[in-house]
Amino acid sequence: MEAADWKDGVITLLEPDSPYRPWRYAFGDSRPGDYSVMVLGTDPVSVLTLLGRIDHEGGLGGALFNDHWVGSSNLVDLATLAMVLDLDDAFTTWRFTDDDAERVILALHESRARGGPFLRWGHSSVSAARILLNFNGKCDSCDEEIDLRGIDARDRMHIHTADPLPRPTPHSPIRPVDHPGRYRPYRASLRDEVRDWPAVLCRRCHVRMRNGNFSSFIDFRFAQHPECRECGGARTQRIAYGEPVSPDYFGPWVYLGGCVEGADDWHCDNCEHEWS
Ligand SMILES: [Zn+2]
Ligand SMILES: [Zn+2]
Repeated sequence: MEAADWKDGVITLLEPDSPYRPWRYAFGDSRPGDYSVMVLGTDPVSVLTLLGRIDHEGGLGGALFNDHWVGSSNLVDLATLAMVLDLDDAFTTWRFTDDDAERVILALHESRARGGPFLRWGHSSVSAARILLNFNGKCDSCDEEIDLRGIDARDRMHIHTADPLPRPTPHSPIRPVDHPGRYRPYRASLRDEVRDWPAVLCRRCHVRMRNGNFSSFIDFRFAQHPECRECGGARTQRIAYGEPVSPDYFGPWVYLGGCVEGADDWHCDNCEHEWS
């Protein structure tokens, strides 16, 4: 299946009730239960790392896609996939031979490399599509719901892309003689290092960010937080309680408050003051 307009394509994955019909496909020779590869017309052309399943039972037939998985899916560029898997006709065929299909299914299902949040940085349309795939239904700035069911869904949101992430600084090659082993490369968490953060914004927040001349979403977020009541410090953090799997999914404007739910909403890193 191919969506030449990647944005409309991702919107229909996030919101099955969307009126958009961006997908072209050739299900003619397919059998129920067959896998379907979802191709997006990003630049370069990319493929979802999750496969759909063909279902002829329900109505006209279509591809089933488990929407719980959309957010955990990623994109791989089709040219690379074709080269690595030796797929001659990846850009022309609507149906892979059994052997080719087997390799695609194994590669996408079995790969340990899921990309993680790092691949969302950068300004390409592939990065933008990855950001949108991670969209949780709400504006990343004001938390208001962005309705994707309407015909104007694509204009209701703005995808903010961030400069590509440099590879972390390598460790010094100089080691003390008595050091027991090799240094492991040290990497600070993403939120401690980056200046900008990819985001999906509602129209209003996008305008506010532009009118405020903010180029960094992190700066824009911090600018909306109250000053510290104790020390007057800026860049206070909103406290989130819970035990995240990885802090890399949380922007630096969030303070990870631990798993015991507390009464306070705000945290100041200058003086450790917390208030609600
Ligand atoms: Zn907003
Ligand atoms: Zn303070």
